[in-house]
Amino acid sequence: MNVSTASEKTKKRAERMLTQYLPNALYKRTSPVCIESWKVGGEPVSFETAKNAQYKPIQVGAAWGAPWDTWWFHITGTVPDFWNEEETQPELVVDLGVNGSGPGFQAEALVYDADGTVIKAIEPYNGSVRLPHPGGSFEWYIEAAANPDIASRAKTAGTPLGDEGVQDGPELYELRRLEMGQLDLEVWNLIQELTVLSGLCDEIDKDRTRYAQILSAIDEALNLINIDDPGLTVHSARAILAKQLAKPAVEGHTVYAVGHAHIDSAWLWPLRETRRKVARTFSNVVNLTDQDRELVFAASSAQQYQWLKEDHPQLFKEVQRKAADGQFIPVGGMWVESDANLPGGESLARQFLQGTQFFRRHFDNMAPIAWLPDSFGYSASFPQIARLSGIQYFLTQKISWNDTNVFPHHSFLWQGLDGTQIFTHFPPSDTYNACVSPYEVALSEKQYSEKGKGTSSLMLFGWGDGGGGPTREMMAAARLQHNLEGSPKLTVTNPMEFFEQASKEMSCPPVWRGELYLELHRGTGTSHAQTKQGNRRCEALLHEAELWATYASVLTGKEYPLSTFDDIWHKVLLYQFHDILPGSAISWVYAEVERSQAEIMEKLETMIKESLQALVGTGTKSLIANAAPLHQRHTPAGAIVQSTETETWGSAKRKGDHVVLENDNVSYEIDTEGHIVSAYDKNNKRENIDPAMPGNVLQLFEDAPTNWDAWDIDSTYEGMEQPAAIVDGIDIGADQVTVSGTIGRSKYAQHVRLDNDTNMLHIHTHINWNESNHLLKQAFPTNIYATEATCEVQFGHLTRPVVKNTSWDEAKFESASQRWVHIADGDFGVSIANRSTYAYDFRQIKLSNDRPGTQIRASLLRSPHYPDPRQDLGEHDFDIAFGVGSTIPDAIRAGYRINLPARAMEGEHEIEPLLTVDNPNVILESLKMSQDGSNAVIARFYESSGGTSRTHLDINFSYNDIKEVGILEEVCEAVQPVIRTMEASHLELELHPFQIVTLRFER
Ligand SMILES: [Zn+2]
Repeated sequence: MNVSTASEKTKKRAERMLTQYLPNALYKRTSPVCIESWKVGGEPVSFETAKNAQYKPIQVGAAWGAPWDTWWFHITGTVPDFWNEEETQPELVVDLGVNGSGPGFQAEALVYDADGTVIKAIEPYNGSVRLPHPGGSFEWYIEAAANPDIASRAKTAGTPLGDEGVQDGPELYELRRLEMGQLDLEVWNLIQELTVLSGLCDEIDKDRTRYAQILSAIDEALNLINIDDPGLTVHSARAILAKQLAKPAVEGHTVYAVGHAHIDSAWLWPLRETRRKVARTFSNVVNLTDQDRELVFAASSAQQYQWLKEDHPQLFKEVQRKAADGQFIPVGGMWVESDANLPGGESLARQFLQGTQFFRRHFDNMAPIAWLPDSFGYSASFPQIARLSGIQYFLTQKISWNDTNVFPHHSFLWQGLDGTQIFTHFPPSDTYNACVSPYEVALSEKQYSEKGKGTSSLMLFGWGDGGGGPTREMMAAARLQHNLEGSPKLTVTNPMEFFEQASKEMSCPPVWRGELYLELHRGTGTSHAQTKQGNRRCEALLHEAELWATYASVLTGKEYPLSTFDDIWHKVLLYQFHDILPGSAISWVYAEVERSQAEIMEKLETMIKESLQALVGTGTKSLIANAAPLHQRHTPAGAIVQSTETETWGSAKRKGDHVVLENDNVSYEIDTEGHIVSAYDKNNKRENIDPAMPGNVLQLFEDAPTNWDAWDIDSTYEGMEQPAAIVDGIDIGADQVTVSGTIGRSKYAQHVRLDNDTNMLHIHTHINWNESNHLLKQAFPTNIYATEATCEVQFGHLTRPVVKNTSWDEAKFESASQRWVHIADGDFGVSIANRSTYAYDFRQIKLSNDRPGTQIRASLLRSPHYPDPRQDLGEHDFDIAFGVGSTIPDAIRAGYRINLPARAMEGEHEIEPLLTVDNPNVILESLKMSQDGSNAVIARFYESSGGTSRTHLDINFSYNDIKEVGILEEVCEAVQPVIRTMEASHLELELHPFQIVTLRFER
């Protein structure tokens, strides 16, 4: 027999021992418990309700749990008093009938004692709970959630299981096991040791002595085990393996392992289930840290702690106690692990403000690490926002999912738009759900890109996505690999220890400038358009409501509704979670989120009206209130003036069967299809449309990605264009053209008007979307020769390639932007502003004269099947403004105008702006009262041009002191001063490119 055949045989023997003989010997003895059950038959109930319910006897083997239902099991028993042998431990052993999908994606449960105190969760691979000492009795309740397994379905196949509410239908699970077991700790330990050593063999070169030694030891140990009763022989087998486990690692790479549980705040389960997942996972962690003092566990998302505090105050106190002990580390500072492309700038700032405020109120030891392991790409604004929020480090691993290019670094300085740098780490094991397997530990060293500069990498271990967290088996694997020849060193630690070491040991880390674009999941800029639109509207209304409420507080003494704003922000921030706003959750989530967004909008409208009423008094004068940070409709930024001017639109004139919409600056010609066949800038005397390639064309494509339906647009979509729209009618009004038609199976109507004050042609599209696996784009080919497109991101803008020279350019075939995009050749440009559309593509096209032109396409709608088979079906409205002769400042203005239109109202008084800047490049993004409830006014500005900008700032209210602060509204190390000269009501500021500035006016 040759060496490799012999080694394969040894590994197969070990595998059979690990999967068959040893698991069967894990419990020396078992004993039944008395079980009763109560089916809730609806939404989850409190422990008190469950305790007082009518239970019926149930046997192991019975079916339980229709989709999303909850069953409670009441169990009583007495641990046999002779189960007191050494190296044994009595446990409750539970198998709810789970399949191979893993923890978090199917049935799971939480165990309570008879007083309602949470003990621990029951999950796949973690189905045991320590029982009282032998002779002791117990009475426990188990809250079992019959969550359906949606994850194991093909990521392209529809399922109704994600629909809202508990579903009728057959039970999904069988109560496979629920009994007492006497755990044989020797057998359990042997399983861990054999698992690590046989796993390590796969990571060591076969020609190494170490490899042969381990195999030989495994063989020898296996020879000693009596498969009829392994418990009798494991001790001697362990002694053989112990010699191999005692050999120390060589100096080199160190893996810093941190216990973790990624809990998606909603995904293949509704929000209410996440609340229970948090309780289950955190109870597992508290339970395991009680038993294992070496475990250190990090968890982000203030929202999840808040849920725990509301639902299980006692368990929350336990978490606080573990945090004080240093075993439980709150991280991240954000309200949730949000998407990082789609939320607006102020939203990302509030993720940190609200999140950190919560952590500070309840914990002393939040780790200042921005923690977004799973979001779908990261805006170039993020480093500055994070550093201004007191964050020192950034962690993700998602860019390892790229479908085209391998990201070149694992530890590096990420440099944002404005030049702010943040030390960043991508765990080279490419996961946030490690099990501490020898494979993952080896991968941490093998893939680590900065080997010449550093020796440290991070590993996050614990069941995650649907929660679960670290297990005792993972901790055993970590201990066995702490200092083991053939493996990098491994230490379980606080993530701050890793970041401090990793940033210190690299004297000159590599630098990556700009966004961390994820070359995957490009459909998440489009999926679930209604929720995205709701997000944008909530953001705009929050801006307006906070601004006028601040005015009302400063000028009239009206109470600022801080706690109402906090409640609203908490919801808006939650809905920006990285599987909600991107559109990748089940339909239940969107039904709930969209109802809530509608309520928020209504509430904010009321708040805005109340503040404005307090400001302008009762009267009949026609007033215009402009909450936008830029002048519009003859109203200065932040002012309320008397005006009768309403929106005015350019006139529509017939030209043959076409229509011309025209004002003093521009003229657009619309054909009988509603397409733009001419876009003429009178000032520049320039035509921007090739008549053979009209603009505002709806295009329908087959959109059936090979995987990840709601997430992905595959680049092949472009070859699958469907027949063009068929127009059934055109109606020409005094200042508007209306075209209606059909595209695919969807009816639509477009209203096209020209804003008299600007160059912008407003196109409103209403569509009844009725497609399956299709993508709808709105195309604007132009005769601009642009090599790159400028896209707004939070607090600034960046460029995306139009010309695709490299694989990195090629991979960016669809990208997310905020309120506007812009292309130009020389000084002349075209912009598109939107009211809710986030995703675009930019292509070079060939014009009739053979010259290169540029096409911008907005992605309006998709219709994937998974996880929501009816995603986006039904009625939608989109607003886009297209303008020729537009500069980037014009595009910025257009973005604000379409999102924050001036508001007409009646009242008595005009109101002057509280703050006025004289340089339009400096934009007041947010005005609010301070988060600490004091009387201070907080104003946040940013430099919008990408250059250095000086401005005067006039202050039209009295204050005692002014401070330059960070996003947390306090003095912060990362703040770079901007005030050059200061008088009471007048400052001179100098901002560096894209600098975010927060001023705090103490009053
Ligand atoms: Zn996630």
